[in-house]
Amino acid sequence: MINKSRLIYRIEGIVQGVGFRPFVYTIASRYSLHGFVLNNAKGVVIEVEGFKESLDAFEQALFKELPPLARIDFWSKELMACRGNMAFEIRHSDEANTKSSPVLPDMSICKECLDELKDPHNRRYHYFFTNCTNCGPRYSIIKTVPYDRPYTSMQPFVMCEECHNEYTNPLDRRYHAQPISCSKCGPTLSLCSINGELLTTNEEAIVQLAKLINTGHIVAMKGMGGFHLMCDATQDDVVANLRERKHRPSKPFAVMFKNLEAIKEECVLSVQEEEGVSSLLRPIVLVKRNAKASKISPLIAPRIDRLGVFLPYTPLHVILFEYLKNPIVATSANRSGEPIISDANVLKEKLKDVVEYYLDYNREIVNSSDDSVLQYIGDKTLLMRSSRGIAPQSFRVDSKDERKILAVGAHQKNAIAIYLNHQIIVSPYIGDLDNIASNELFEKMIESFARFYDFTPDLIVGDLHPNYVSTQWAKKQNIPFMQVQHHYAHILSTMCEHKLSEPVLGIAWDGTGYGDDGTIWGGEFLLCNQERYERVISFESFLLLGGDASIKEIKRILASLLWDTLGDDADVHLLNYFDEKSLKLLKQIYTKQINSPRCSSVGRLFDAVAVLCGMEGNVSYDGESGLLLEALYDASIHEYYAIEIDDKIVHYKPMFVQMLKDKEPHLIATKFINTLVQIALRVSTRYSLPIVLSGGVFQNRTLMEKLLQNVTQNFYFPLQLAINDGGICVGQIYKVLEK
Ligand code: ZN
Ligand code: ZN
Ligand code: FE
Repeated sequence: MINKSRLIYRIEGIVQGVGFRPFVYTIASRYSLHGFVLNNAKGVVIEVEGFKESLDAFEQALFKELPPLARIDFWSKELMACRGNMAFEIRHSDEANTKSSPVLPDMSICKECLDELKDPHNRRYHYFFTNCTNCGPRYSIIKTVPYDRPYTSMQPFVMCEECHNEYTNPLDRRYHAQPISCSKCGPTLSLCSINGELLTTNEEAIVQLAKLINTGHIVAMKGMGGFHLMCDATQDDVVANLRERKHRPSKPFAVMFKNLEAIKEECVLSVQEEEGVSSLLRPIVLVKRNAKASKISPLIAPRIDRLGVFLPYTPLHVILFEYLKNPIVATSANRSGEPIISDANVLKEKLKDVVEYYLDYNREIVNSSDDSVLQYIGDKTLLMRSSRGIAPQSFRVDSKDERKILAVGAHQKNAIAIYLNHQIIVSPYIGDLDNIASNELFEKMIESFARFYDFTPDLIVGDLHPNYVSTQWAKKQNIPFMQVQHHYAHILSTMCEHKLSEPVLGIAWDGTGYGDDGTIWGGEFLLCNQERYERVISFESFLLLGGDASIKEIKRILASLLWDTLGDDADVHLLNYFDEKSLKLLKQIYTKQINSPRCSSVGRLFDAVAVLCGMEGNVSYDGESGLLLEALYDASIHEYYAIEIDDKIVHYKPMFVQMLKDKEPHLIATKFINTLVQIALRVSTRYSLPIVLSGGVFQNRTLMEKLLQNVTQNFYFPLQLAINDGGICVGQIYKVLEK
């Protein structure tokens, strides 16, 4: 007994619901240690007793062999008196106390489950809901914490004896895997026509659904976080039909492929992109299309050279692909602009004119989520939508602040975040808060987070914009509310992610954000630290003719810019884009400045340039102009346009006159992007500070690649948070956190 000692470990991070306790049990048993492991409010407590060498070996294994989904953020160790336990045991959670452990995102099927799914001798062969502790649903099925079967939508399904044995055996991969089930005891699939007629069930439903897709039907399938609309991605008439029924003229559709090889037939992937697409997160990755003839319909992503690709991520998707002939369109089932639909009754009501058949199952999706979307810049990720597989996302911050803080985000691509117990937890993507369904989801998200974390905020933070739905909601709560300027919050979110507290030069370029002076900003150089910011340089402003009308009808922006530069001489050029009558009307709006706010947004400049490059009509989705210009970009051209930067203002308007002379779209697009790089570089060199980038404009991969190649200072952009308005909520919290 003399040589034995006892240690107590306190561990915080992602250590609950990820097989952490059985993992500890396994390694403690391996080294013949006695004691126990227990979940508590903050994470996990381990007490181990044994010989010193064994304790050392245990500690090594503890950090080296973590289960795939586990993450240790913080730990401590203390020596204590021996208790003389005779065994090692997993003790039961103290239920009342587990409310700050993060609710984890849904995960795609793991390798071991996939092998079982394909093994005819396994009892889960072709079982469409197979999962284990290392994979499967979490966020989508949880009603409240602790994450335990009775509090999930698996509650109605009673485990069969075999499943129960696995569930209760600490050495089994499915020990405490809450959604555990098998074909005997799990949920049922059903294939229905959109008027609700049941056609068939289970495996046969998958076979028939595949047949419908193969023969050119538009269907819906309930996936992990909601329904996908699906159709064959190679049949032009079917894709055209889907576009028409969805009233979605040009926004690209994501395409799901059977495997990596199938993606490579259509696209060129870097090593990082291959790894990203195949990772357990299974995001949609935007990749370059192969220039050669393609099987994929050109209507999938008109006029751009990218394709959003992803792989099957649930067992159900994997089995479906065994019966499909081709890659498929798999896009969130929703009405344009609204959140993803996760309930068949809503689907039948809202998409009866779009969908002909749907595959449903009788387990409720409690919390919906979309597919996450990202792209790669070399080996770095640029996150555009944080949802399934990634969110809810939690990370620890260095702050003494003991308050509970809610950040309500911005307006577009809204996501919320909370701060409690030294961690920030960010919600999945909610959407643009400009329809009732999205606004309802926004409120539901806040309620769910309140329930998951027993959370009532001491303080709410939001955007400066007085008319944002999020701002207005916050003002009604009778809780102290603080507003943070939009672009400052963009930069702060990146600073928070990279743990930067020293002053930085923030470059915030995006579409829209409410400025301190009441005008619209979006081309900003901000000197920032965590306390304050100064708008040191910004793009020269212009009139957004007719306000929102300019954002839809982008040639209005070109008109405004050309009139500013050329006066009446601009008319002759503008008559290429407007008929005489509407030009005259627009000019009146311009001269009298009717309903035309001032704007300094770089996002809007992309729109004007896109018009000069031949983009006709209206912008039909956010970022369309940028993607169009990227498709025209010619890397062999290094020229850029002349611009002037004085003490406060970037004077770029004469650039548009130069563009009129260039005429060639690829030349204009290339020189424009090169010019933006020059502007960023020239301003950056005036300050010997770290450069921090954020804002929707930087979703432009070409622009980012050029910047990365040329900036010589320390350079940061968000890698874990969305670079667009989705990341704003974290910046709002970072502003108010006590150091
Ligand atoms: Zn698994
Ligand atoms: Zn079972
Ligand atoms: Fe923004």
